[in-house]
Amino acid sequence: MCREAKRLIMKKHFLLKYCTYILLTLFAVACSTGEQKQKIVTVTIQPQKYFAERIAGDRFEINCIVPPGSNPEAYDPSPSHLVHLGKSIAYFKIGHIGFELAWMDKLAQNNPNMKIFDNSEGIDILSGTHEHNEEKAHHHHFDADPHSWSSPKNARIIARNMYHAFVEIDPDGEKEYLQNYKNLLLEINHVDSIMTRRLAPVRGSMFAIYHPSLSYLAKDYHLHQLSLEYNGKEPSAFYLKKAIDIARKNRVKVIFIQQEFDAKQAESFASEIGAKVVPINPLSYHWSEELLHITDAIAGQ
Ligand SMILES: [Zn+2]
Repeated sequence: MCREAKRLIMKKHFLLKYCTYILLTLFAVACSTGEQKQKIVTVTIQPQKYFAERIAGDRFEINCIVPPGSNPEAYDPSPSHLVHLGKSIAYFKIGHIGFELAWMDKLAQNNPNMKIFDNSEGIDILSGTHEHNEEKAHHHHFDADPHSWSSPKNARIIARNMYHAFVEIDPDGEKEYLQNYKNLLLEINHVDSIMTRRLAPVRGSMFAIYHPSLSYLAKDYHLHQLSLEYNGKEPSAFYLKKAIDIARKNRVKVIFIQQEFDAKQAESFASEIGAKVVPINPLSYHWSEELLHITDAIAGQ
């Protein structure tokens, strides 16, 4: 009886030792992959984070500066973001956006070893929708429209720029990046083909939107975007009346609102012309789903 008990204790002891060994091994593996993940690339907006994660796989951690729900055209970074930025090997700009225009020089100065890439390089940038207010210069002028990612045609260029950037900062991963990039292109092309098919019947039609963030989509699929915001500001009563007339004439059936902007004027505009208010989030991480959601709303007019 006593010997039996002793054997049981020995067995228990062995199991405990064995389990500890397994746990330690698991912990070591977890730590080493954690270390690998320490390589950081920082991007400005969530759609970039999605593309970058798709291409990088496990080789990089992607840090996104502007959090969901914040407006990247007027955003000031938090201290924790700046710490993460200090650890970044590279920064991927989306290009022409308020946050980068205001902060990029400072961020580059503070992190001289961080390589900076412009993801919008090679994109045909539109202008005339966004006003940049240079307070010191006391003048206003129209600037580049930063919302390049809202069209699959541009998304292909953004993905290509990212692929080249990853290969440049980490040549060992080239094979993996190429495969991931090709897979991402298949997804972008799939979204493009659905959009082309769904939007063909409403070609030439007009949709309304509070903040003009779908200029590239409108251009690439032959649609017209009517913006409620005027010169980057809340519309005046006079402008709103003009917009209502244009919307009626063009039989606008949908007005898009974005969470970063107040919805009140869009709602009264919608009830005035009998249109549907549709919340969208062009800054969503889920790039494909969001574009297809917007496509459905336009096509269903
Ligand atoms: Zn904008």
